[in-house]
Amino acid sequence: MDHRTPDTWEEAFAARVQAARESVARLHAELPRWGLVVWTAGNVSQRVRGDAADGSRDLLVIKPSGVSYDELTPEAMVVCDLEGLLVAGEGSPSSDTAAHAYVYRHMPDVGGVVHTHSTYATAWAARGEPIPCVLTMMGDEFGGDVPVGPFALIGDDSIGRGIVETLRGSRSRAVLMQNHGPFTIGRDARDAVKAAVMVEEVARTVHIARQLGEPIAIPQDKIDHLYQRYQFVYGQHQDGPIPMDEGGPAAVRSDIPRDTDKESN
Ligand SMILES: [Zn+2]
Repeated sequence: MDHRTPDTWEEAFAARVQAARESVARLHAELPRWGLVVWTAGNVSQRVRGDAADGSRDLLVIKPSGVSYDELTPEAMVVCDLEGLLVAGEGSPSSDTAAHAYVYRHMPDVGGVVHTHSTYATAWAARGEPIPCVLTMMGDEFGGDVPVGPFALIGDDSIGRGIVETLRGSRSRAVLMQNHGPFTIGRDARDAVKAAVMVEEVARTVHIARQLGEPIAIPQDKIDHLYQRYQFVYGQHQDGPIPMDEGGPAAVRSDIPRDTDKESN
């Protein structure tokens, strides 16, 4: 089987590609539903795992460039290799495909990527200012501040590299690319869409809080507690968050009591 040649795909692999097309088409509808996109901006992608353990025969499914949100059927989705080159589907892949592909190549545990220009998150990106961790839901979801990535232009690997370099060593599943907007990652596309919704929500709330004064920072040990409880105990991720390279949650995993309080948020 050659993952770049659809005629050669085994049945199980073709079924996984089809399932990803359906999921990615459906999840694109969530972006306007949550007010995260205007016109054709924004995109969701999902990795399709191939038969190589090192991920070298994985593919990704993403929306084509310039197609309206009303036309996003499973058949309209395009399939690319992890160099961002078209493998199946009509039309050219989203202009952000290279950035998504770079993330999949360099973060093997990531199964979904989302990019939007959602208003409040992008306003923080315009100032190049990380969103400070002043809400318990930020401790839960992002494990601290939402970081800012470098200024980068479409055309080479610089957006993808900026995303990966910023998110490595951070617990956050969201990065605000400076002067541009948020990129989020997840175990699958749905998980990444959830992070995109949540980063816009916290960007909006902290912005509003700032209007009448300085929000109160949450001490680091309390952030650690929130994050560990939510990610490992509360049941949001049965296997914990996406393992990160350094300083990430994998290192503290064995310390976590699994039967502690489970009060809802
Ligand atoms: Zn963009």
